[in-house]
Amino acid sequence: MRRHLFALAGAALLALANSAAAADKPAPGGLCGSGKNAAICFASVDRAGKLSAEDRAKLAAAAPVAIDIVSSRRFAAELAAFHAALPKRWVKENRYWRGFDPAEAPAAIRAAFAGLHIDTRGGAKARWSSEFSGNLAYEGSTDPRTGERSIMLNRYRLDRPLDALVATYVHEAAHKAGYSHRPGQTRDQKCEPPYVMGQLARKLAEPDKWARFVAGKNACRFWREAS
Ligand SMILES: [Zn+2]
Repeated sequence: MRRHLFALAGAALLALANSAAAADKPAPGGLCGSGKNAAICFASVDRAGKLSAEDRAKLAAAAPVAIDIVSSRRFAAELAAFHAALPKRWVKENRYWRGFDPAEAPAAIRAAFAGLHIDTRGGAKARWSSEFSGNLAYEGSTDPRTGERSIMLNRYRLDRPLDALVATYVHEAAHKAGYSHRPGQTRDQKCEPPYVMGQLARKLAEPDKWARFVAGKNACRFWREAS
């Protein structure tokens, strides 16, 4: 009980702190989806205030796009079609797809977006992993006490176009929703759920760039083999 009270007080303080911060600077706005998705909103961008206004605006602009895409019928339909077309034997041996329900996944990611903070990480370690392992972002953290969740973008990899940022939001939110992929940069990793859903969001964000993306090494090979 006592612990509950503390948690409540903590959440109230947090809410106060957030509204104070929102009053300080112009509200980022546009962190919610549009139309029927207006109630799904990311919580913040760059709480630490480490970014230029330009970078912050760019990260904010990708948020509603990600929400609207994952909520769209097209995303659900293409994900279901991709899943249905996966080689059965390959899926059987892939624990990341086992039990995957394409009818549930979009709603799970939508739920993960709601209240999610978009933070960034800088420093030597982030620079090193950006350069040597191509790291774009981390799943971030979930505060066990308040339930507050964040994803962490690598500050050295923010210079990317909208479709790439949207893909990263979907990928990291997929982790928050419990989807996973094998570690290390392997060929098949790119065909596992967080990557595939990120790639699909990228396709719907900027369809004109899709053919070129699919031809590259960052795309799941099954897209290529299907086309
Ligand atoms: Zn990942």
